[in-house]
Amino acid sequence: MNLYETLPFSLTSIITEWINSDHTTIHKAAIGKLNGHFNLKHSDSAKKKIGERTRKLWESDSVAKQKMIEGLKKSGIKKGYIRVPREKRKCQECKQEFEVIKTSSQKYCNRTCSGKNVIKNATSQYVEKRKILHQGIKEYIIKWSIDNMELVLATPLNRIQTTIASLIEEIHQLFDVKDFRVISKAVFGEDRGRKELIMFMKRICNENVC
Ligand SMILES: [Zn+2]
Repeated sequence: MNLYETLPFSLTSIITEWINSDHTTIHKAAIGKLNGHFNLKHSDSAKKKIGERTRKLWESDSVAKQKMIEGLKKSGIKKGYIRVPREKRKCQECKQEFEVIKTSSQKYCNRTCSGKNVIKNATSQYVEKRKILHQGIKEYIIKWSIDNMELVLATPLNRIQTTIASLIEEIHQLFDVKDFRVISKAVFGEDRGRKELIMFMKRICNENVC
């Protein structure tokens, strides 16, 4: 800096020129392919030495340590500086232990395990929805049977179609279900056909007569 004081250009302008020039083959910037360390790797022993020196600096109360702290603050890296309290948890899926920072909400050891849980939840939500739908259809059939008791009781087993046509149409409107097998499943837990359904409806009516 002292040397440059007497010169008509500043050190900074020289460095800027050096970095930006098209003729530059190497420069002192810490990043980019022209930096002095580009494509060079430290040997293991060199790494060890650097690590050892860094560790000693952290333990010291030197100016160098102060500079390292400032450097970390500037770069936003806090790793190795502030020790965040950690804890061991058991993965809720595979029961393996894993370590996380205490404030983390992580419940699974990895993405595979959390993914498995997402699938489980989606499946149980689907099953739950089906259950509610089936319950709704069954309750509707019971109510409809009572409301149309005379018709249901008078329906001969060879004329089921006519009687239940409007019931099925109403279910379609209300629950968006057209498939008779789904309707039967809602009542019996499995498809048992039209005859069984009308007999179920007749039973409902008879129970409600008494
Ligand atoms: Zn796991």
